[in-house]
Amino acid sequence: MQPFLEAIEARADAAVFESIPVPDSYRAAVVLAGETEMFAGLGSEDKDPRRSLHVQEVPTPELAPDEVYMVVMASAINFNTVWTSIFEPLPTFGFLKRLGRESRWGARHDLPYHVVGSDASGVVIRAGSAVRNWQPGARVVVHCNYVDDQDPSSHDDSMLAANQRIWGFESNFGGLAELSVVKANQLMPKPEHLSWEEAACNALCNSTSYRMLVSRNGADMKQGDVILIWGASGGLGGYAVQYALNGGGIPVGVVSSADKVKLLQAMGCENVIDRKAAGYRFWSDGQTQDESEWRRFGKDIRALVGDDPDIVFEHPGRQTMGASVFVAKRGGMVVTCAATSGYMIEYDNRHLWMKLKSIKASHFANYREAWAANDLIRRGAVQPTLSAVFPLDKTGEAAYQVHRNMHEGKIGVLCAAPSEGMGIADPELRSKIGEDRITLFRRLGA
Ligand code: NAP
Repeated sequence: MQPFLEAIEARADAAVFESIPVPDSYRAAVVLAGETEMFAGLGSEDKDPRRSLHVQEVPTPELAPDEVYMVVMASAINFNTVWTSIFEPLPTFGFLKRLGRESRWGARHDLPYHVVGSDASGVVIRAGSAVRNWQPGARVVVHCNYVDDQDPSSHDDSMLAANQRIWGFESNFGGLAELSVVKANQLMPKPEHLSWEEAACNALCNSTSYRMLVSRNGADMKQGDVILIWGASGGLGGYAVQYALNGGGIPVGVVSSADKVKLLQAMGCENVIDRKAAGYRFWSDGQTQDESEWRRFGKDIRALVGDDPDIVFEHPGRQTMGASVFVAKRGGMVVTCAATSGYMIEYDNRHLWMKLKSIKASHFANYREAWAANDLIRRGAVQPTLSAVFPLDKTGEAAYQVHRNMHEGKIGVLCAAPSEGMGIADPELRSKIGEDRITLFRRLGA
């Protein structure tokens, strides 16, 4: 990687990058097809990503005409890497097999190892013959919507494409590596006031939160909306709070510790509920939910903001969905993108239909939404939520911390970048926005 790092440092032109040979192999964080049974018999909590995620040398795949090779300077942990590393709900090798059957280029992905990771910042080092808008030397971040643009179903909202995939989860050659292969239509300009690791941590969670709250494909929030945000200092929640505040909404953040309450208050979120301190027991046992606890939660929200939520930002799933549907305002919306605590959901349908509430499904973001969300980062209207950084060799530990909910915001991973703090090319914008705001999660987070 050294000659590429020197060219990146020197801001060299395309010809210099093109003169440096692409290595035959590179270091990457992988799970192995031969190990998918290693956690058999264990509960989710006991499945340890530190055992299943390995950092090893892998061969560089061939480049398709619509792709680029990039040197990945930094990446970040997303919950999908946790799912891959504990082989839940399914081992991801099935996704790779299916992609492998699609085409000659898809076949490259069907391997006995899976290079994981769905976020990256870095520099393009080669562009395929069909790539028009990016050339070697371009400093980029990557969004993870992996779409076949020759499929007609991808040409309205690409998230509705029949074979839409998440890069680094349902495809191979992901971002937790020193090198990656990405489609040109995944690239976006790097926010130049941020370091590589600050720039790398945003795209997946920021774009998802943008679609869930701001986009007309999601809750289409408006000024004055009360927005209940579960996991408000987590990966998705840290951006959702910013969108609520920026858009004139009234966020009510739910978190699980006094430190997280302080972090949210420092972000400007005045209304915070510490769910641990409140001790809600929405489920009295594994089978039965307790409506009186939903009611108590609803009262606590009203006591804070004097109203019920117009929008509930949902992702914990089984543990919270009953309460989310119950507390949403008459005519309100629960927008959901996940089910961390279990995907077999139960809620009382009477509260949904009698009060004309709706549940909206959301999943990542199309290119337009991801670009809009990245633009807000580039302008300094939305801040990164990076709270900690690990070297590539410690990817397992980083994923373990996310799995065990030991983190706030995002955990970054340094891939090819030799150290933290590199890559800032617009210090003026950085000082205009303010170091305090950009590094809030780093200072007050875990
Ligand atoms: P994260 O960084 O771990 O944050 C999730 C937060 O949820 C935690 O900080 C925790 O906050 C809260 N939480 C966890 N379990 C809970 C429970 N049982 N009850 C209430 N709150 C709970 O994860 P993330 O990146 O925000 O992702 C959250 C989920 O969304 C994951 O399942 C992920 O796979 C999914 N996701 C989906 C998409 C998509 O495109 N569909 C995109 C991104 C993420 P407190 O402990 O402080 O309350």
